[in-house]
Amino acid sequence: MERWWHAEAMPLITTPAIVLKVTPYSETSKIVRLLSRDHGLVSALARGARRAKSRCGAGLDLFAVGTATVRIKAQTDLHTLCGFDLTRGHSHIAEEMARFGAASALVELALKCAPAEPHPESFVALEEGLDALDRAGAGGEEAAALAACWRLVVALGFEPVLDRCAACGTPVQGAVAFSAAQGGALCRAHQRDAAHPTRLVSEDRDALHALLEGRWPDPPLDARHAAAHRRLLIAFIRHHLAEDRPLPALAFWDRESWNATSS
Ligand SMILES: [Zn+2]
Repeated sequence: MERWWHAEAMPLITTPAIVLKVTPYSETSKIVRLLSRDHGLVSALARGARRAKSRCGAGLDLFAVGTATVRIKAQTDLHTLCGFDLTRGHSHIAEEMARFGAASALVELALKCAPAEPHPESFVALEEGLDALDRAGAGGEEAAALAACWRLVVALGFEPVLDRCAACGTPVQGAVAFSAAQGGALCRAHQRDAAHPTRLVSEDRDALHALLEGRWPDPPLDARHAAAHRRLLIAFIRHHLAEDRPLPALAFWDRESWNATSS
């Protein structure tokens, strides 16, 4: 009888999950933040995970994708991680600064903006984004990271409008003024009232379209255009998703990418 009562009070869940953050806890344990497919954001204590022979700790690294088994505890947000079966480690993302910075920005976006309740769309967007970043060839990390971040923004329900005015819905063509605050392109009448809109020539608008659809921009982004796209993305995220919450990994990605390409 007692076992039944226990099982009911502390249900065990098994779900695909991605490791967003790992914090050492005591000499031997870790606290992990996971984006799970079936339960949204979850924090869990992995007891003994820092021990060399820990079954649960093997593969429990940043960006890892696997199947997590979590015992859900009532009346606390910190649950217990009972197991993590690694599917893809993404360990080589951590080997290069550019890739690592971009992946950290992507994961931060999920950590700060994904809902606590189940939201499989954001899980799939993050999973595919990390895969694309892992696969991207040298020089392709920027476009892969921008596309991954925009895909996650779209999955979270904040797609910018590009083919009509974000304020009044009038169709727009060619070069447009883009307002991160207003959520997209603006017609002539509305761009006059907008504070600091970004000028997008047709090529920039096509590139943004491609990134939103998870495609590579053609022609490929050079360093200057990639930097402009990063700033647009970050401004959009600040206005619509993060509000006043700090986004240090996104800021770091922007700074480091610019330093890497302009030095
Ligand atoms: Zn308008």
